[in-house]
Amino acid sequence: MSPYDASPVQAPAPLVDGFGRKVSYLRLSVTDRCDLRCVYCMAEHMVFLPKAELLTLEELDRVATAFVGLGTRKLRITGGEPLVRKGVMDLIRSLGRHLASGALEEITLTTNGTRLAEFAGQLAEAGVKRINVSLDSLKPDLFKRLTRGGDVAKVLAGIEAAQAAGLRVKVNAVALAHDNAAEIPELIGWAHRSGLDITLIETMPMGEIEADRTDQYLSLETVRRELESFWTLTDLPLSTGGPARYVRVEETGGRLGFITPMSHNFCEACNRVRLTCTGTLHTCLGQEDATDLRAVLRAGASDAELVEVVRNGVLAKPKGHDFRIARAEGPSVSRHMSTTGG
Ligand code: SAM
Ligand code: SF4
Repeated sequence: MSPYDASPVQAPAPLVDGFGRKVSYLRLSVTDRCDLRCVYCMAEHMVFLPKAELLTLEELDRVATAFVGLGTRKLRITGGEPLVRKGVMDLIRSLGRHLASGALEEITLTTNGTRLAEFAGQLAEAGVKRINVSLDSLKPDLFKRLTRGGDVAKVLAGIEAAQAAGLRVKVNAVALAHDNAAEIPELIGWAHRSGLDITLIETMPMGEIEADRTDQYLSLETVRRELESFWTLTDLPLSTGGPARYVRVEETGGRLGFITPMSHNFCEACNRVRLTCTGTLHTCLGQEDATDLRAVLRAGASDAELVEVVRNGVLAKPKGHDFRIARAEGPSVSRHMSTTGG
């Protein structure tokens, strides 16, 4: 066979930023709305976006598919609360075609769990294998206060339904100096007894909220030292290209992660970008950089034009975040986590 006979279809060049980091992970926010109002995430009276500002399910599918075409291997659906978006299962089922073709390695979901009991089976059927459920306290009163009205029993039922449907569940808990600090060992013990991994997250200064977040900031280095006074924590080599560092708690046999954006920089290996529910591409959670893909889509761009804009957006990914917790400075990033997609 002469070299000219072999004309393989050229795979598109992978998405790479200006620092040579390959972008293979997209977080897709499908709504800014939520049925809870966690104190560190949202203001009590949030003004949500008019529907016309949100990407339609078809637009979300089109952008995600463009990323898959450029080598995105992992897709995380988030929000706001993704399970309150009408038609979200249609979107997830549709994106499942990229799992079937092998183009995509996994579709995951971050949820507050309130509607999981209803959706767990459908998620599993759509090809979702694992999900993250956010849960900061097992105490009904504290959970209700932290979420401004939530019912922890619903979340626990949701987690059980997810496990029964065969989904692997990881719990994410935000460490809050005044609220759940004392409960953290109990949360970890409960998670590990229940067959769940758990990851602790430091509060990040995102979006204007009423509470003074600096008062709630709790360094996970402090938490780790405290845990090490009664448990043996063994570092695990596991890296997801994300900000989490993992240990095994020898006494429980379970896995524990730490997400420490404030006390450690994790940007060198960052492989991810985020698309807001309004179609803005943010290549860094902690910077104001933005590319408006909705304008491109609604101007009737071709797939090739969309890809070009995505490539240029990714090329401009900042080297690292710039979170500051200093009281006087206010939020480092003005948009809420619920808009960007956590
Ligand atoms: N509603 C879903 C949930 O709660 O899992 C998905 C979206 S929520 C914005 C994603 C994650 O971001 C949650 O685990 C939440 O605890 C976390 N989060 C929200 N605001 C945060 C903040 N200011 N600092 C740190 N984590 C935050
Ligand atoms: Fe809603 Fe999740 Fe934000 Fe809580 S953290 S208010 S559940 S979006």
